[in-house]
Amino acid sequence: MLIPNEIPRKEPKVRIGIILPSDGIKILRCSFSDPQCYEIETSAKILPSCKNKKELNIEINDNNIIIPELSLKDKSIKLIPSILDENPFVKINEVPAGRGFHWEKKIDLSYWGTIEFSYFKKNIIVINELPLEKYLKCVATSEMSAICPQEFLKAQYIVARSWLLANIERKHIHLGFDICNDDCCQRYQGILNTTKTSNEIADLTFGQVITYENKICDARYSKSCGGITENFENVWVGNKISYLNSINDTNSKGISYCSTDIVPESSLKAYIGTVDDEGKYYRWIYRINNNNLISSLKINFSLDVKKVLGLNPTKIGASGRIIRLEIIFLNIEDSTQNIEINSEYEIRKILSPTFLYSSAFTVNKINDEFILEGKGWGHGVGLCQIGALGMALSKKGAKLILNHYYPGAKINTIYNK
Ligand SMILES: [Zn+2]
Ligand SMILES: [Zn+2]
Repeated sequence: MLIPNEIPRKEPKVRIGIILPSDGIKILRCSFSDPQCYEIETSAKILPSCKNKKELNIEINDNNIIIPELSLKDKSIKLIPSILDENPFVKINEVPAGRGFHWEKKIDLSYWGTIEFSYFKKNIIVINELPLEKYLKCVATSEMSAICPQEFLKAQYIVARSWLLANIERKHIHLGFDICNDDCCQRYQGILNTTKTSNEIADLTFGQVITYENKICDARYSKSCGGITENFENVWVGNKISYLNSINDTNSKGISYCSTDIVPESSLKAYIGTVDDEGKYYRWIYRINNNNLISSLKINFSLDVKKVLGLNPTKIGASGRIIRLEIIFLNIEDSTQNIEINSEYEIRKILSPTFLYSSAFTVNKINDEFILEGKGWGHGVGLCQIGALGMALSKKGAKLILNHYYPGAKINTIYNK
């Protein structure tokens, strides 16, 4: 298990919850890329390989996990890769993704490393244990496309590794794993988004993190700062962090790295994949009508509002993000009232049902409609992913990219192969 605030001296293993007790799963199917590469272990015995059994059913029976095809029964059964130098994988059918979101679904996903099925209060828990570097290869590329420039991807791997080691929260320790596979911790979809090239680039940064005063940096990042990054303490509760202070995300000519001048809109989709509206990461316009705001205030604060009169920013951070927003309204008794929203996260949540791109906007009111003219995408603290992409496209190396976004931080190799 990972230990918070400890710098590992050799590559640690990560334990990820793939199927959780709350998923209520009592039967599942899995298959091997090559059954001969796996041993199956129970507390009583080890099956050296499961030759000719490419697929297995995992079920619950009599407060135990059972694999009927192999007549195995125990509280916990492990599938352990026996050839460590290669990359065999186990495919698990119908793994839940996007828990609690409108797009929640089940997908078949493949995993490197050990798979552990355990019985927990009438449900199956599935834990995947694998070396940290392999886990990173899976998570860092799902954020952005593996076709991005090499120096950008190197920076992204170093940031992802630092962030992971600095932010182990141990939310799930009672269930025996470090992190879960969803947005609650970090989205993890096995080897789905890995490619040969992305794996090779990850290996170029093996064991590298950014450190500041002998501690691994809390390497925050967001999609696009909008031109200037934000101070840590304006987004999260806590003291200033010197390497997470605002910087101008511009080159020597004053052009924003995260702008369409440097990252053309036409190529953006190929690089970041998930973008819906091209160009909106840099400058955008969002319109909200009064009725939508009234229902949002009802849902979020149980307020009965007749009309919203104004949106009035009362504290603005270094990047232009609104940190405190006063909403002035007329209640149903026709008296003027106000409410203050105290975080960029809440502001984005309240002003848009699909979460506003960022809280860096100016407000114009035309009749009863509010027109927000904004910039950036995400909280804007630390590395700006599109800006880092722009730096790499401008032929800047990973070291320069990290120095730019985390001033004073150093790249250190904390363990080797
Ligand atoms: Zn979690
Ligand atoms: Zn930026």
